[in-house]
Amino acid sequence: MNAPQSPGNTKVEQAKLLIDGQWVESKTNEWRDIVNPATQEVLARVPFATAEEVDAAVAAAQRAFKTWRDTPIGARMRIMLKLQALIREHTKRIAQVLSAEQGKTLADAEGDIFRGLEVVEHAASIGTLQMGEFAENVAGGVDTYTLRQPIGVCAGITPFNFPAMIPLWMFPMAIVCGNTFVLKPSEQDPLSTLLLVELALEAGVPAGVLNVVHGGKQVVDTICTHPDIKAISFVGSTEVGTHVYNLASQHGKRVQSMMGAKNHAVVLPDANRTQTVNALVGAAFGAAGQRCMATSVAVLVGKAREWLPDIKDAASKLKVNAGCEPGTDVGPVVSKRAKERVLGLIESGIKEGATLELDGRGVKVPGYEQGNFVGPTLFSGVRTEMQVYTQEIFGPVLVTLEVDTLDEAIALVNANPFGNGTGLFTQSGAAARKFQSEIDIGQVGINIPIPVPVPFFSFTGSRGSKLGDLGPYGKQVVQFYTQTKTVTARWFDDDSVNDGVNTTISLR
Ligand code: NAD
Repeated sequence: MNAPQSPGNTKVEQAKLLIDGQWVESKTNEWRDIVNPATQEVLARVPFATAEEVDAAVAAAQRAFKTWRDTPIGARMRIMLKLQALIREHTKRIAQVLSAEQGKTLADAEGDIFRGLEVVEHAASIGTLQMGEFAENVAGGVDTYTLRQPIGVCAGITPFNFPAMIPLWMFPMAIVCGNTFVLKPSEQDPLSTLLLVELALEAGVPAGVLNVVHGGKQVVDTICTHPDIKAISFVGSTEVGTHVYNLASQHGKRVQSMMGAKNHAVVLPDANRTQTVNALVGAAFGAAGQRCMATSVAVLVGKAREWLPDIKDAASKLKVNAGCEPGTDVGPVVSKRAKERVLGLIESGIKEGATLELDGRGVKVPGYEQGNFVGPTLFSGVRTEMQVYTQEIFGPVLVTLEVDTLDEAIALVNANPFGNGTGLFTQSGAAARKFQSEIDIGQVGINIPIPVPVPFFSFTGSRGSKLGDLGPYGKQVVQFYTQTKTVTARWFDDDSVNDGVNTTISLR
């Protein structure tokens, strides 16, 4: 496909920074190629911004906050309404860029954009979401009410696997609450994110309200320690997320860190066999297993262990190809490095004694010989101490374990350090109710393989998958991006009775 178009419709050779409403070229000496994972074609280069450039972005956001915080709610909402219309209009174009830089299929790239678009739609109802509370007559002639005020400059740091949805989890809700924002997209695939930012400007987001810097650890650390940034939303691996959470918290910031996963699907033998097998295979191998909510472990309970051949059969039929080719089920993983890591973990599974039921290592894709492809890979006989179980593989690899009872399955899932998502497959309401109550996981699906909540709820997470109390989007994020102030007020008429001096704490 053609190289993506930059803001201003010229061919992108260098991803730009957005500072104070201007797309600027970085003065850095450090650059990284953005590579099509199916072809190795270099699509563009991304700068690792200098500390001065990060400073300039934060300063622009700080200046813009002075006026943006007082912009009427209706004006902010109308920008979100315009943005959602623009995203709809440009979905196909953005999906092409996203698929080229990330590797996912065009249909899945559109899904990535759509799940973010839903957050923009929700942001358009901020008028009711950001309302405070009011209590009349808390004492004689005294009222108390709360204001939900924006907090200032906020920042977002995003991962490579959802370059549309995750930036859209962050900046629309932050700015519609009256904050200003500095976004640091993944350095592996920032081009589709930049197209969304370009649409935000077109929708009317004023200069300085939304800024973009690129980079890796250094830029992230500068953001985490910057004195003028008040809140940071991070999504990425547990290792980096823990670092970001600790560093930014030590510097007095609010932080939400949504991190890695090992998502278990628990399959009871009373489940609908065909539906369950289809759901498992789609959730394990879709997006080449690079979803934070991908099913990476199947726990087959009792007689459901007999379903392994069905899973193998369905997985072996998936078509591995470039994301832009029609009929592709499994695209490449994002980079050569990611592929090497996945292959290394498959190797470890074999060495540690798991049974390789389906081997995706040698897959060849005609016309895309250089692509980072790994075919669907299935292990059985996996034990909890094996690396294929303890590590987040983030590739098209499904491992299966077998237990005898639902209680054992719940204990197994709860003993895993991650707590992002899980699914139970059953026809039993009683089993489902027990599971949802006892499982210590943020997102629970009942016969739903990827239970990502819609934006009027909040994305959640537990244990090793999340740090911070409040999740991205939904009601929780309105709390995250605002500060509650209580006002207790009394108004005197000219002829009001003189109460005298009161030296107690009580209100009269
Ligand atoms: P990553 O942690 O490598 O990168 C995330 C961000 O951190 C990027 O912007 C990157 O530039 C920055 N970064 C990388 N190394 C850094 C370092 N040493 N110090 C500071 N910043 C650094 O994650 P990724 O590989 O881009 O994304 C995949 C991971 O994200 C998986 O673990 C996946 O489970 C997780 N994820 C979680 C959720 C969730 O909501 N829980 C959603 C999507 C992805």
